[in-house]
Amino acid sequence: MPWRVSVGLVPSRVLSLLVPPTCWVCGAPAPASVAGPLCAACRRTLPWLPAGCCPRCALPAHGRGGCPAARQAFDAARSVVAYEGVASAAVRALKDRGGVRLAAMMGAQMAASLPPEFLRGARIVPVPAHPFRRRVRGFDAAALLAAEVAARCDRPLDADLLRRRGWRGRQRGASRAERLAAGRLVIELRRPIPPPAVAALVDDVHTTGATLHACAMALRTGGCERVVALTWARAL
Ligand SMILES: [Zn+2]
Ligand SMILES: [Zn+2]
Repeated sequence: MPWRVSVGLVPSRVLSLLVPPTCWVCGAPAPASVAGPLCAACRRTLPWLPAGCCPRCALPAHGRGGCPAARQAFDAARSVVAYEGVASAAVRALKDRGGVRLAAMMGAQMAASLPPEFLRGARIVPVPAHPFRRRVRGFDAAALLAAEVAARCDRPLDADLLRRRGWRGRQRGASRAERLAAGRLVIELRRPIPPPAVAALVDDVHTTGATLHACAMALRTGGCERVVALTWARAL
């Protein structure tokens, strides 16, 4: 009979002796007592964003087109690190493996980076994952981060306020209508929000801002007076 260990029944301290913790990014040994989810070398090379980023789009500098968030529906945006190098590998690890310790590290860094007024009066709303992806992976990176930020900043978590629609399954064999639907981003509000409503959208990465904009539009339609966006990483 094969020897089996049910991980759920093994205390985490015993488990860490059986399976030594390794860095989520590079796989090097990362002692749980000192290192958290990343090894010392990866922690040292996290590409922190500088102080003084644009309060609207979270970029350190604008290109020729000016602030990309000028026509987007959120009022302010903040991020912690640039989406490159170790940070993009950490986001990939969070998306693919759903590390609770990784989410805790990112959430702590997000919470610590905020000026006190940023989340004033805000409910914390994760950017919704597509249900297909959530089913496949069994977890949702934005929801993990939103829970961490809500707990650390003592704000209410509104985890299912938004819902994403649209088909994101395999393209092969899909009908033309399904392919068209796949390219469309539809965010729905599940219930109205009583005024004065303030929402802080939380996601792992802020890239073009299109998803944050779609979420902010849905929140505004539902009565939100102020919407801010908080992400761990910002694509430059
Ligand atoms: Zn590492
Ligand atoms: Zn800007």
